[in-house]
Amino acid sequence: MAPDGPPGRPVAAPVDTLDVVFDPELRLHLPRTRRADPVQVRTAATVTIGHVVQSLGVPLTEVGVLELDGVGVDPGTRAVGRRLVVTPVPHPQPVPTWPPRFVLDVHLGALARRLRLVGLDVAYERDADDDSLAAQALAGDRVLLTRDRELLRRRVLSVPPRHGAFVHATAADEQMLEVLRRFAPPLAPWTRCLRCGARLEPAAKAELAHLLPAGTRRTYEEFARCTGCGRPFWRGAHGAGLEAVVRRAEEAVRHM
Ligand SMILES: [Zn+2]
Repeated sequence: MAPDGPPGRPVAAPVDTLDVVFDPELRLHLPRTRRADPVQVRTAATVTIGHVVQSLGVPLTEVGVLELDGVGVDPGTRAVGRRLVVTPVPHPQPVPTWPPRFVLDVHLGALARRLRLVGLDVAYERDADDDSLAAQALAGDRVLLTRDRELLRRRVLSVPPRHGAFVHATAADEQMLEVLRRFAPPLAPWTRCLRCGARLEPAAKAELAHLLPAGTRRTYEEFARCTGCGRPFWRGAHGAGLEAVVRRAEEAVRHM
């Protein structure tokens, strides 16, 4: 507790040292020079635990339990204590809706395609700004996936049920597996449009004939149409690469 001073006069907050012990998974967010265990920070009684954690580089969207001197605390608690233990959000983590829905930051276009391919509800616009991404996450009860820690520092995204999550991997295939491990969503491959994310419905070849290249008309018999943008769809449309992506996703889910 801060000492009480005379009313109206600011009291100098006592400065103290806090040992912050991050789970190894969370240490990946810290600058390399600070990955020692524990991280020692100078803190004052006016500072909150959430501020300490985020100022070290760890978004609160990634944090599960916070324990200050052995007692569970929330991020708004004053950082007065000796030792803070920070654990990661559990996997799979609680989500705003089930099955989880996502909105992806503009840099994750290749991940958006893969998640739609395996049947997840993914909003993605190439030119969305940070404000609209956060608003879309909240309004649609979606989890915002991003590699931008600054964006995840918005408080609305970290309040449970969390509406934001950091993606560590840089390659799209790895990113997909990371998302599947973190959220364990049910898969429904080949049920969504890769371009707009809406559901596909079966369509007769004759209805789509005018939209299909001649070679496709000769080679394929089963077709679908996007209920959102109307594009025709067939399994061979995007090459064998996507079959492999689906296999990897199904394999990953089987081992969870
Ligand atoms: Zn579509």
